[in-house]
Amino acid sequence: MAARTGKEYLERLSASRPTVHIQGETVTGGIQDHPAFRNVVRTYAELYDLQHTAEHKDTLTYTSPTSGEPVGTSFLTPKTPEDLTKRRKAFKVWADHSNGMLGRTGDYMNSSLMALASAADWFAQANPAFGENVLRYYEKVREEDLLCTHTLIPPQVNRSVAGTQQAGGKLAARIVKEDDNGIVIRGARMLATIAPFADEMLVFPSTVLRGTPEDKPYSYAFAIPNDAPGLRYVAREPLDYDRPRHDHPLASRFEESDCVVVFDDVHVPYERCFAIGDAELCNGFYSQTSSVVHMTHQVVTRTTAKTEYILGLVTLLTEAIGIEQFQHVQEDIAEIITTLEMLRAFLRAAEADAQVNEYGVLTPAFAPLNAARNLYPKLYQRFPQILRKLGASGLMATPTELDINGPAAEDIEAYLQSATLTGSERVRLFRLVWDTCISAFSGRQALYEYYFFGDPVRMAGAYVKSYDREPYKAKVQDFLNRHSLERS
Ligand SMILES: Cc1cc2nc3c(=O)[nH]c(=O)nc-3n(C[C@H](O)[C@H](O)[C@H](O)COP(=O)(O)OP(=O)(O)OC[C@H]3O[C@@H](n4cnc5c(N)ncnc54)[C@H](O)[C@@H]3O)c2cc1C
Repeated sequence: MAARTGKEYLERLSASRPTVHIQGETVTGGIQDHPAFRNVVRTYAELYDLQHTAEHKDTLTYTSPTSGEPVGTSFLTPKTPEDLTKRRKAFKVWADHSNGMLGRTGDYMNSSLMALASAADWFAQANPAFGENVLRYYEKVREEDLLCTHTLIPPQVNRSVAGTQQAGGKLAARIVKEDDNGIVIRGARMLATIAPFADEMLVFPSTVLRGTPEDKPYSYAFAIPNDAPGLRYVAREPLDYDRPRHDHPLASRFEESDCVVVFDDVHVPYERCFAIGDAELCNGFYSQTSSVVHMTHQVVTRTTAKTEYILGLVTLLTEAIGIEQFQHVQEDIAEIITTLEMLRAFLRAAEADAQVNEYGVLTPAFAPLNAARNLYPKLYQRFPQILRKLGASGLMATPTELDINGPAAEDIEAYLQSATLTGSERVRLFRLVWDTCISAFSGRQALYEYYFFGDPVRMAGAYVKSYDREPYKAKVQDFLNRHSLERS
């Protein structure tokens, strides 16, 4: 099969039977028509349709090495600089479609799977079957153009003790049994975004495992269909209130559900396992395979698209109410421009300094991407803050579409006009600003960016530890020595 159309994505989804608890209801199918999901699901379908448009098909697809069919570019194993550029351009087309608001488009996990499959030999160290499994699984996802999500961290019960010790070891998802043809998983994982409408769930290694015997049942990597028997999701309250697009322009399109994942003795066949009981392998899962680098390449492209959107939005806002010329307003806009240019420079540097890794994959330089992923969680927090400050009371003078077309129409046109816009145009713009910086949807976006790659505090710790500072120490030491020689 080839790159899917939106219709094919929806057809597969309608045949899927995930168990989702949502607002007191248990849904076991019909996700594509459920009010909590139907709008975002249609946006995902649009992404798949883009793969078939005259404008984007050459960017979004390439020829599969096994089937000869066009398949998604995010599966492309980069060998040349052109491949890397093509991958980034494809990421950008999808990211632009949602102004960077969709964090879990298929290209995110596809990038990870591509890198994992290229490093099949690394998985084979533990067992040759694992190497074959990861390769076969990647090819399946590529050829069927499946949408994958992932779940990593154990439930947040008591972070002062290890995940393995929560409720006497009876809480975090773990292997409780191994039989002739697979493993059985019981317990929970904290979160999985888009789980109800993904095709597949990747249950990948959680935070650092210690390699002690107690950690063994918690050390695994596998993939299961999102409607595997015994698997259930507990969804948070939807932030898409099924309101008109005019009134909730972002939430009515891009609301990705987040769900707690419960494994009620889920059987995982061996052919879907990539690691079992090997903490050391699990700890190296992302770094040793370059998977984290390719995932970050996709993410920084997405956050660049999001920053472009914020810059466009703030410009329309400040022009609309005539505040462009004030210096503090310019200072805020300059902050957004600087962030955008920084992200672009990081991407460019990462691609320019790309090197072929030990598995023959042209891999972007991680240093600039790592800097970007450590910075953005904090930089993004400023954007809603700036929009709120500059939008001020205009963000509350935001009647709905029904008002614009109802008895208040004349008042809205007269009193809500702005320097550059009619009353109804201004309300439309300000509702978009509101959905970017004040609504529940915007709050979730800010939290999402903050925790996208994990807790920024612990990420900073890992960043500092992994960064080779010896040359810089030596440089300063040399200077100190030179100074003392000069004096003597
Ligand atoms: C919107 C959203 C969507 C998400 N989607 C997914 C998903 O699809 N798949 C997935 O696997 N995960 C997902 N996550 C989870 C995300 O990976 C975590 O939020 C992130 O790793 C931080 O972990 P935590 O939320 O458990 O925070 P915690 O670890 O519980 O931290 C809470 C607070 O306590 C502090 N703290 C806790 N422990 C320590 C410690 N040992 N040392 C120092 N400080 C500590 C932290 O600094 C933080 O301030 C999502 C999160 C959000 C918010």
